Amino acid sequence: MKSIIDQLRALNDLDVQLQTIRKDLQRLPKELAEKEEEPRLIKEQIERRVVEINKSRAEADSLDLDLKAGTEAMKKLSNQMNMLRTSKEFEAVRRQIDTQKISNNRNEEKALELLQEVDAKVKEVNELKTKLQETEKRLAEEKARVGKDVSELKTQEQDLAGRRQALAKNLPEKELGIYDRIVVSRGQAIAKISRGVCAACHMQLPPQVHNLVLIGKELVTCSSCGRILTSE
Ligand SMILES: [Zn+2]
Repeated sequence: MKSIIDQLRALNDLDVQLQTIRKDLQRLPKELAEKEEEPRLIKEQIERRVVEINKSRAEADSLDLDLKAGTEAMKKLSNQMNMLRTSKEFEAVRRQIDTQKISNNRNEEKALELLQEVDAKVKEVNELKTKLQETEKRLAEEKARVGKDVSELKTQEQDLAGRRQALAKNLPEKELGIYDRIVVSRGQAIAKISRGVCAACHMQLPPQVHNLVLIGKELVTCSSCGRILTSE
């Protein structure tokens, strides 16, 4: 049994390495996909700002037209003033001029506010575009790095899997079956008994279990964690 356990130990070394590599092979593309979200989000932000800018510009243009019409109206009212005869008529036109002036001023202020908003958003869009370029550059480097890592890991995986197959071929089916069931969930499939305790899960083992391990006629597993027990 000792030679079988030694072989299982060698097999376990390969399997633990394989498990790590396979986890990395799953993790790396997932992490990369998450990072690919970032430029997409920046692009969305830019698109939203551009829509807002266009809307504000259109509003400012429309206010500008109102203002031009308002200025025209003021001119007409001023001309009328020169032709008025009664003070009552004069008062009425003066009031109209005052109202028009207020409306013109308000339109002018609003248009100015909108254009200031547009300026701020244009600045923001330019900053976002710079950020997007940097992010895309970083992502391209990351992609290249991950691609290289993945291909290296795949080579290692192939090599380890080949060695594993060669080793497993020489092991008896029964013991290999026991081992294969444990390794899937435990990774480290073999545990030492240390002072009557399973060194992996720290469960106190009955003395007869320890004896069976010492006799070494069959594979003995820990009743708590299921690992194959060895005395050394
Ligand atoms: Zn255990």
